[in-house]
Amino acid sequence: MDIRRLTVDDVRAALLERRASAREIAQEALRYARESNQASNAWLAFAEERALEAAARVDGKIARGEDPGPLAGVPVAIKDNIVTRGLRTTCGSRLLERFVPPYDATAVERLERAGALLIGKTNLDEFAMGSSNENSAFGPVRNPADPERVPGGSSGGSAAAVAQGAAVAALGSDTGGSIRQPASFCGVVGLSPTYGRVSRYGLVAFASSLDRIGPLARTVRDAALVLQAIAGRDSRDSTSAFAPVPDYVSGMNGNLRGLRVGLPREYFEGLTGGTAAQMEKARSLLASLGCELREISLPHTPYAVPCYYILCTAEASSNLARYDGVRYTWRAPQVETLAEMYAKTRGQGFGAECKRRIMLGTYVLSAGYYDAYYLKAQKVRTLITRDFLDAFGQVDAIATPVSPFPAFRLGEKLDDPLQMYLSDIFTITASLAGLPAMSVPCGRTPEGLPVGLQLIAPHFGEPLLFRLGGAFEQAGGASL
Ligand code: GLN
Repeated sequence: MDIRRLTVDDVRAALLERRASAREIAQEALRYARESNQASNAWLAFAEERALEAAARVDGKIARGEDPGPLAGVPVAIKDNIVTRGLRTTCGSRLLERFVPPYDATAVERLERAGALLIGKTNLDEFAMGSSNENSAFGPVRNPADPERVPGGSSGGSAAAVAQGAAVAALGSDTGGSIRQPASFCGVVGLSPTYGRVSRYGLVAFASSLDRIGPLARTVRDAALVLQAIAGRDSRDSTSAFAPVPDYVSGMNGNLRGLRVGLPREYFEGLTGGTAAQMEKARSLLASLGCELREISLPHTPYAVPCYYILCTAEASSNLARYDGVRYTWRAPQVETLAEMYAKTRGQGFGAECKRRIMLGTYVLSAGYYDAYYLKAQKVRTLITRDFLDAFGQVDAIATPVSPFPAFRLGEKLDDPLQMYLSDIFTITASLAGLPAMSVPCGRTPEGLPVGLQLIAPHFGEPLLFRLGGAFEQAGGASL
């Protein structure tokens, strides 16, 4: 069995036909994850004991003839800003280097209940702030498609682990694009579900009104199966939705006849590095599948980057106030006063990007500027959301590039935060609007770099994303 290519269905078949035990799958996944980590740095920790215990439960159920669960024996990776009981959760930060959470995130609990094997925690930009994984305190991740390039961020470790094949699926978090952009850079599927579809309980907060947990996987079907396991109301997250969870896989019937797909003109400008050519091919493929393509406009798109960086920094400055050296974190030694302890702990503990955002966030929330920046950005957020709701009066779904460019070189954008922020120019709009959006592989550039096609649906339109993305994938989208 080649662990690098397995899907959820392959694992299930292997277990039920007794070709492998869950224990063997866990051991092989851990071995390969450790081996490949030397080149990728995708993993921050391995969970050998926990994975073997979960595998024993699955093997026991199979031996007794019981249903081992929809994700039985599937090796999964968890982004290291999603808490795991007894397993270090660092958020890619020096501050939390030794933080061992006393509970599991709801999404983790649900994955394990479905039979998944948690094999380890994956690298990320510090507190999920970044687009390249270079903001991790534990070193950058290298893109499996080209080790000189970034895997994207902030869920770069999860994307690289799935692309490399050590994990069949992973959980990431997406605030402004952090699942979709690394998925597109690494050539895997990534879904940011509707805000509220998956409980945020146990996701370390960055910007609470935007944060979501979602799956990364090698196929659309696998992403659907993972979402199926983790979605749904959770009384421990008051923003999790009551909406019933549909059967995601049964709607993937391959039929796209007459589906109206909008192509927003604002998203096809300034594409570089071979992205435009891949989008042309995607357009033809969608048309050949029977989609009715329509040019549309989302006129407030140019305001999305400033709007997002005002709102996310404001929320981050408040959320990150808890890392004060008193609870959770590392504490600066040799200090005389409480104020000095706070200042040194935070000054030495946070990396540059977190500090930049805390400063910007406290500024936009300050008494004199609240109306001019924060309140104004909230209004712009409403306009961006209305653009989408208007568009969904004319089309069923929207297709765009995930990013204006493919994976860039390590270090290339490090000195220019504004350039870095542009990586997410096409993903943050759906984040601001709370809409579900998915990245599906859309071939590679002549240099061999993966490109992602972003599909956006109305709120709770995940079934449509899976149907559309699944048909695109089946028709050869990944090898365009
Ligand atoms: N790259 C964006 C940022 O730095 C998005 C991050 C995210 O989605 N967590 O904020």
